[in-house]
Amino acid sequence: MYCISKLELNRNDPCQCGSGLKYKHCCLKTHQERKRWEGLENNLRESITDYWQEFHENDLYNAINIYGKIIDKNTEVTECRLFFDWFIHDYILNNISS
Ligand SMILES: [Zn+2]
Repeated sequence: MYCISKLELNRNDPCQCGSGLKYKHCCLKTHQERKRWEGLENNLRESITDYWQEFHENDLYNAINIYGKIIDKNTEVTECRLFFDWFIHDYILNNISS
């Protein structure tokens, strides 16, 4: 989860971005939009992970080795995101035809 969405600001509080505006007139809409996409993004990451675990498990473990940190169910969300964004976009498969 993005740290920004952890801020449970009241609508009438001064916005945390420092604009001097009330939250409801400033970043509230952006944060709501971010929250809306966050669920979709997480679902997509989960689907991609399920796919890799089912069909390319060795590549997934190899990638985790290269990454050099333990990635499992207990890993912090931000760390998981870093790993999976790297894995999805930049990891090169050992054997693309398998
Ligand atoms: Zn703001």
